[in-house]
Amino acid sequence: MKYSELMRKNTQAYVHSWEYSKKQHLVLGRIFQSYDDMVQTIKNAQLAGRSMPTIEADDIFAVYTITHEYGHLLQHIMFREAKEGGYQNRENQFQNDCRSAIINMARKTNPSCNPDALISKYGKEQDGEFFAEVFANSMLGCPNELGKAMEQLLKAGGY
Ligand SMILES: [Zn+2]
Repeated sequence: MKYSELMRKNTQAYVHSWEYSKKQHLVLGRIFQSYDDMVQTIKNAQLAGRSMPTIEADDIFAVYTITHEYGHLLQHIMFREAKEGGYQNRENQFQNDCRSAIINMARKTNPSCNPDALISKYGKEQDGEFFAEVFANSMLGCPNELGKAMEQLLKAGGY
């Protein structure tokens, strides 16, 4: 299938991966009209709780989407490596396992934290989006408890 067919009109970007291959494609959409449009779109998404908090600066808003996509790339690599290490389940289960591990780590650090209040609306849609959203939060200057848990888990896993 051509990427143009996969790409929905309102898609900012996505990663295509193959479960049994190292190959991954990061595809950027053509949704943004300009740099300013991209910055404003991300800013608005944060204000509406659709995206995770970051440092409030245009050059950070501008890299939000690509950082989120790098989260997907990383999770696909982690899944492949887990399989090489004997992990038996499918990728959607791996994504669910990662989500649980991040939440458990956040609760271990702060038992009263509320993961549901810390994750963006987009991150609630799917376990894979949860990971990418928390990854963006962890990388862009003001990680919340989920972002900090992600940092700890990545470090513990050697990433
Ligand atoms: Zn995503």
